[in-house]
Amino acid sequence: MISTLRFPIRSHTGLGSIEKLFVEVRNWNLKKILIVTDQTLVNIGLVDKFLGPLKEELAVSVYSDVEPEPSLGCAERLVGYTRQEGFDCVLGFGGGSALDLAKLAAVISQNEGDVSDYLNLTGTRKLERHGIPKILIPTTLGTGSEVTDIAVLSLEGTKDVVTHDYLLANVAIVDPQLTLTVPKRITAATGIDALTHAVEAFLSINANEATDALAIKAIELIGGAIKNAVENGADLESRTAMSYGSYLAGLAFFNAGVAGVHALAYPLGSQFKLPHGESNAVLLPYVMKYITSSCPKKMNMVGNILSKHVDERTAEDFLKLFFRLVEDVGLPTTLKDYGIPESALDSLTDDAVKQKRLLSRSPKKLDREVIYQIYQLAFEGVTNDKGGDFDV
Ligand SMILES: [Zn+2]
Repeated sequence: MISTLRFPIRSHTGLGSIEKLFVEVRNWNLKKILIVTDQTLVNIGLVDKFLGPLKEELAVSVYSDVEPEPSLGCAERLVGYTRQEGFDCVLGFGGGSALDLAKLAAVISQNEGDVSDYLNLTGTRKLERHGIPKILIPTTLGTGSEVTDIAVLSLEGTKDVVTHDYLLANVAIVDPQLTLTVPKRITAATGIDALTHAVEAFLSINANEATDALAIKAIELIGGAIKNAVENGADLESRTAMSYGSYLAGLAFFNAGVAGVHALAYPLGSQFKLPHGESNAVLLPYVMKYITSSCPKKMNMVGNILSKHVDERTAEDFLKLFFRLVEDVGLPTTLKDYGIPESALDSLTDDAVKQKRLLSRSPKKLDREVIYQIYQLAFEGVTNDKGGDFDV
């Protein structure tokens, strides 16, 4: 089998790697840079602390009209602004939303038309120009947005993406010191998201030796550090492990793809505004349980790594293992806990079956009946103790 790996042009990782930003800016001789970030990071002083010194080098504009799970309208406004102002570089600084929007600003502002023209499902145009350089710096870990060529947007009742080689970062900088103040719940949610990326990439039908190497290392790092990163946010060692784990998981899923967990998670985000990582967390145990029979060897490898950090007795009980992991980091474990009514399971299923691109990578086919059943198990938070078997 032929494998093709795609990466950002250059990545700087590790403690203190933010310093490389200033080297890059000088090397490119930039004059006018746009920082895309969210207002919270401006308010807590993170933007000033880490990016403030840029003002000594060049003209800096900060754009902070960034929504979580950004809408198409939010992206169109930013692209319009970027076009008007004529920047020579875009710097995304923040969570996945800020980074995804920065990619769109850098590329679509230099092409004809609107963001909607380039959407995967409904767009009709093809990107013709590379756009201006983009530097992507995550401040929450997990999304992997800094290494992928995808920007995800929320639309009425669903999500769509813009995806193209041109959206890849010229430079990604992943520095754990930026994540030290991330609150517990976000650390938990983004950490489980990163773990889901690694596990889904490892089990994807598009996995290969190279993506497996990235995914396994990511599972080891995240599995070993996530609990401590949530409980002791200022612990540099755990944050550094999470930072590398999330980065490697991003590369693994960018090249091998994610599958069923993400397909079923998207409707929870679009219909009920659940944060992306939490949507994955609540579904992860059931999707894993369902697909195990199609990939027992690989699932055992995952179980052996993760069970070291959870509970020995769960090593071969994947539903309980993943359930415990989510519980251990303090996230809700049922759809009921999120206030989602049982009557919504049908419409969630309707939306999930549309995610064909993601579902097609699952090692075991997820049809409508199975998807409904997964939502139903997640609704109650069933574990094997109470009978979590599938009837299909
Ligand atoms: Zn994800």
